[in-house]
Amino acid sequence: MYASGKCPLCGRELPEKPSKHHLIPRSLKGREIVLLHRVCHRQIHATFTERELFNYYNTIERILENDNIRKFVKWIKNKPPGFHVRTKNTLRKRPKG
Ligand SMILES: [Zn+2]
Ligand SMILES: [Zn+2]
Repeated sequence: MYASGKCPLCGRELPEKPSKHHLIPRSLKGREIVLLHRVCHRQIHATFTERELFNYYNTIERILENDNIRKFVKWIKNKPPGFHVRTKNTLRKRPKG
């Protein structure tokens, strides 16, 4: 899949194969998708549970209100686009979409 555009989370250019995030979890019948870096996507799921995503963090604007996310964005913003990290927070379940 080709995407031209920027990651709504960190504002950097998207890679050729961005990650898809359902603003409302797929398991809860969400349809709206945003394209993100894999690291950005992982950060969202490391920070919020599906229930939290569904109840409140179902827009990028709201996701960006979160301190954890803001710190992450500040940090990742200056990394090169191909930069990969392993998300440290493993308390949450693996991303499902
Ligand atoms: Zn990003
Ligand atoms: Zn997702």
